[in-house]
Formats: sequence, structure tokens, C-alpha cells
Amino acid sequence: MFFGCCILKSGKEREEVEEKLKRITGKLIREHSLEEEEYRYLIDHREEVRDRLAREARRVTEQIYGDEIFVRGLIEFTNICRNDCLYCGIRNSNENVERYRLTEKQILDCCAEGYELGYRTFVLQGGEDGYFSDEVLVPLIRKIRREYPECAITLSIGERERASYQALFDAGADRYLLRHETADEGHYRKLHPERMSFRHRMNCLRELREIGYAVGAGFMVGSPFQTSRELAEDLKFIETFRPEMCGIGPFIPHRDTPFRDEPAGTLELTCFLLSVIRLAWPSVLLPATTALGTIDPRGREKGVLSGANVVMPNLSPTEVRRNYELYNDKICMGDESAQCRSCLDMRMRTVGRRVVTDRGDLRRTPREEVNEEESRKKNGTE
Ligand code: SAH
Repeated sequence: MFFGCCILKSGKEREEVEEKLKRITGKLIREHSLEEEEYRYLIDHREEVRDRLAREARRVTEQIYGDEIFVRGLIEFTNICRNDCLYCGIRNSNENVERYRLTEKQILDCCAEGYELGYRTFVLQGGEDGYFSDEVLVPLIRKIRREYPECAITLSIGERERASYQALFDAGADRYLLRHETADEGHYRKLHPERMSFRHRMNCLRELREIGYAVGAGFMVGSPFQTSRELAEDLKFIETFRPEMCGIGPFIPHRDTPFRDEPAGTLELTCFLLSVIRLAWPSVLLPATTALGTIDPRGREKGVLSGANVVMPNLSPTEVRRNYELYNDKICMGDESAQCRSCLDMRMRTVGRRVVTDRGDLRRTPREEVNEEESRKKNGTE
């Protein structure tokens, strides 16, 4: 009798959970928007909805981008950094890193090699290295712009002053990747030293957008102290801010950081979140990241099957790659750029996708065009 009661009760509870999950997934698929608590509920019950959401995410991706995968050539041009983010392998206080900075010629050579390999986006990523002032970067960006008028120039060099973002934009940079890392201020404080500021980082993202950059935000999955509450905040932020690109990958510990003993984020949760992000903001450019490829040999392919449509192979000179180690066991450390490119071509083919030679700009759906128009009018920017 006692057992019977329990089974009855749990049967009813199960039905309620299923009902609720059905309602929330339906809403996400139809309206592309959820309340924060609903995102949290999905994350907490993801086992039951994961496959359906991945299928839907794939369908939406194919509707907008077909079988095309966009590539970005990643040039890690300096590992010198004034910051001390607790998770990052090239943080300032890590004395075991051999520091390097590429010369202008080396960077231009990477672009030339990348262009030959079919890249039409160059991503210049690095630590916050004071050497790369506007006086150094502006002429460099101008040269790349002049040489490759049909290519996108993406910067990923952290927080700077608005005037600097403007100068780099005027020189020809058109996209900027600055992961917000976490949308929760308290969580941000646990991942960064005292003198770094959540508000400043978020403000940078807003300024970049105002200036006219296509912006990339993003966060690590499974970073220390993160729960479904923080992740739900991240999802709501992505849904409302609508960055053109959203980079997410698992947190992976680095042996020389305070988080060395923390567990890595999982493939499963990262793939689930890729699907949810695709559905919350259908046109978003969504990379299957190197970190995802690091925790699972087919991580990037699985990312694509969950809704990702971008990959970012490494274009850095082979001799410096091992020094840009943000986390343990990063893949492709010893490969030539051409190897990285053909490896990814092949990997993408195994999941029915095709790497294309294209700038790979965001493609808005007609419905998103209308929404965009309305919000521009509302904000009085037209
Ligand atoms: N200095 C630039 C580029 C940072 S490196 C900036 O501030 O934007 C690019 C991204 O790598 C970071 O935004 C972070 O999300 C990710 N990253 C750093 N350490 C990591 C780790 N241990 N595991 C996974 N991702 C990490």
C-alpha cells in the first residue's frame, strides 16, 4: 500500500514535469524566448529534452545556413596579458609561460597563408598586451584591410577604451569577440581578480555594438561556481542582447592556475546549450569551439549536430602555438595551418556539412528583420 502510494504520487509528478517540459520546449521553438526560470528548468531536466532540442536546432540551422559551415582563421598574435583571470593559462601571474608577440610581418604572413587556404575572416586574438596600442594596431589593420578588401577582420583583444574601439573600427576592423564570461556579477567576481569589473566588460560589449562592430559574446560551460542559475542568466542575456556571434565551450582547467583541480565542463551540457542558444536566437553565428574539440575527439562534429555553424581553425605559426595554451591539452598544437584546414573540411563532411569560402556574415530571418526594425524604431535610432 505504502509503495503503491509512492508510485502513484511519483507518476503524477512525472506527468507534471513532462507537461511543463512540453510547454517550455514548445514556447522556445515557437517564440524563441523564455523566462530565466524556464531556461533553468530546461537545464535541470535536460536529459529528457536534449534530443528533441538538438533535432530542432539542426533544422533551424539548416533552414538559415543550409549545409554551410563558416570558417575563421584564428591568429593568436600575442600571449602577453596584463590580466589575471583565474581560469586562464596565459594569465599574467603564470610564470611558466614563454611569452611571445608576433611581428607585423608574421601576422601579415598568417593572413596571406590563410587567404590562400580559403579563409575570408581573420581573427586576431591575444592577451591584453600593452605593446599593441592603437598606434601599432591601426596601421596593421589598415594594411590587412587594403590587402584583403573582401575579408572580415575580427579582433579579440579584450577590454579597451571606446575611443580605441572606434579607431580600430575606422581602420577597417569589422567584428569583435569579447566573451562576457558570465552574466552574473557575483559569479564574475569569483572568476576574476578584484580589479576587473563585470560592468566594464558588459559596457565594452555595448560600446562595440554602438560603434557598428558585429559582436561576439559568450561564456564557458562548467566554469567553477557555475550552476544552472548562472547559465540561465547567460541564456537570457544572449536572447536579449543578441550578439551576432556566441562563443561557448567547456571550461578546461589549466595546471598553472588556481582552478587547476576544478573539473572540466562537459560535452553533453555544452552541446545542449548550443541547441538552446540556436533556438533562442536562430540566426546567431555559433562556433563549435576548439575547447569542445579538446574534451572529446569528435566534440566539434557533435557541436555541429547540436546547432553550431562555425569553426575556427588555428592559423598561428606552429612555433608559437604551444605557448598559447589557455587550458590543458589544447588540440592542434603541432599542426600546420593547412593541416588544420583540411582536417576540419574532412570532419565537417562526416556530419553532412561543407566548409565554404565566404566572409560568413550573419543571415537574419525575415521575422528577425522585422523585430530588428521595430526595436530600432523604439530606441529612436532611426
Ligand atoms: N584577451 C581576450 C581573449 C581571451 S582568450 C579577451 O579578454 O577577450 C578567449 C577565451 O578563451 C576567453 O574569453 C575564455 O572564455 C576562454 N578561456 C580562457 N581560459 C579558458 C579555460 N581554462 N577553459 C576554457 N576556456 C577558456
